[in-house]
Amino acid sequence: MSDREIGRILDRTLSGKELTPGEALRLFQAEGKELRAILQTADAVRRAAVGDTVTFVIVRNVNFTNICYTGCKFCGFAKRKGDPEAEFLSLDEIARRVEEAQERGATEVCIQGGLHPNIEGTYYGDILTAIKDRAPDIHIHAFSPFEIKYGAGRMGVSTRDFLLYLKDCGLGTIPGTAAEILDVEIRQQLTRDKLTAAEWIDIVKTAHRLGIRSTATMMYGHIDRPEHWVAHFNILREIQKETGGFTEFVPLGFIHWDAPLYFAGGARPGPTRDENLKVHAIARLFFNGWINHIQVSWVKLGPRFAQYVLKNGGANDFGGTLMNESISRSAGAPYGQEVTPLEMCRMIREIGRRPARRNTLYQIAEPYDDHDPPDMEPLVPRTAEQSSLFADFARQPG
Ligand code: SF4
Repeated sequence: MSDREIGRILDRTLSGKELTPGEALRLFQAEGKELRAILQTADAVRRAAVGDTVTFVIVRNVNFTNICYTGCKFCGFAKRKGDPEAEFLSLDEIARRVEEAQERGATEVCIQGGLHPNIEGTYYGDILTAIKDRAPDIHIHAFSPFEIKYGAGRMGVSTRDFLLYLKDCGLGTIPGTAAEILDVEIRQQLTRDKLTAAEWIDIVKTAHRLGIRSTATMMYGHIDRPEHWVAHFNILREIQKETGGFTEFVPLGFIHWDAPLYFAGGARPGPTRDENLKVHAIARLFFNGWINHIQVSWVKLGPRFAQYVLKNGGANDFGGTLMNESISRSAGAPYGQEVTPLEMCRMIREIGRRPARRNTLYQIAEPYDDHDPPDMEPLVPRTAEQSSLFADFARQPG
C-alpha cells in the first residue's frame, strides 16, 4: 500500500466523504508514518466534530450478580453458585448503592449482571423500580441486549414487549455490550449459544425505535482480525443511519489475564498498542457524521494510555468514574475501580483539553473551565499499585 493511497483516503475523509469499508480496511494495514497520518486526521476530524472539550460522566456500576452459566470463553467475571466469590445483591443493596452514588454526584447508574438461572423476567423490572423508589432522578442505563433476550424469554414475551415493560419501570438507556464482534463465526467461537449477531442487531434497533438509546461497543484483540472490525463498524453505522439511537462508540480491548479462552491457548493476549490506536482513530473517521462521540475505556487502556488516545487518536470522552468496576477487574485488569471527578479533570487538563461533566445523553452538565469538582476519596480503597498509577494526578495543582 502506498503513502499516496493512504493520503488519498485521508483527504477524502477530511473533505467530508464517508469512509468505505474497503478504505477502512486499508487504513488498518497502516504502520509507522502512515499510522501517524491517520492519527493526525482523526484528531482533526474530532476537533471539527466536537471541539476541544473532553467529557466524562459520574456513574456507578452495579453488577448485581456474577452468577452465570452461559460460559462465554472470554469472560473472567462469571461465577457458579456456591463459589466463594459468587455474588447476588438484594434489591435493597442495589438501591442503597445507587443512593450512595447519588450522594457522590452520580447522574447515572449502569446495571448489568450475569444470567442468573433462578431469576424471573420481572426481576429486571423489580431492580428498576427499587432504584426509582429511592433515587427517582437518576438515569438508569441497564441491561445488555443479552439480558434483554434472557429476561424476555423468562417472562415469555417478545423483546419489544419486554423493553416496553422495562421502560415503564424506569429504564433510560441500554448498554450496547454483548456485541463482542458482530460476526457469526467469531461469535460461535467466543460464545456458542449466546445471543446471535442478528438478535443483537434486532434488540438494539427495537430499543432505539422505542426511544431507548444505547451505546455501541466492540470487544477486540482476541481471535478477531481487522476485517471483522470493519464489518462490525459497518453494521453499527448502518444501524445508526436507520435509527440514530447510538450515543457513542466504546472500543473495549480484550482483557486476557483471567479469560478461559486465553488460558486454552485460543486467543491473543489482547490488542497491541497500535491496534488500540487504530481502532479508536479509524472509528472516528468511519463514524464521522453519524456517531460523534468516541469513548476511551480507562479500565481497559489504563489511565495514561487513555490520555494518549484522547490527545492523539480522535477520541473525546473519558467514560465514567465507575466507583465499582467488577467486569474488567474480574478479568484481571489492574487499573482500579474508580477515577474521581477531580482526577478526571486533572487528567484532561494535562493533555491540554477542557474538562466537562456530561449526562448519559451527552448534554453538558457542568463545564470545569474555572473551577474543580470536589475532592473525594475513591469509594473502594485502592491498592498501593493502583494508588501509584493515580499519584501524579493527585499531586497536581487544580
Ligand atoms: S459474558 Fe455475561 S453472559 Fe457471558 S459468561 Fe460472562 S456474565 Fe455470563
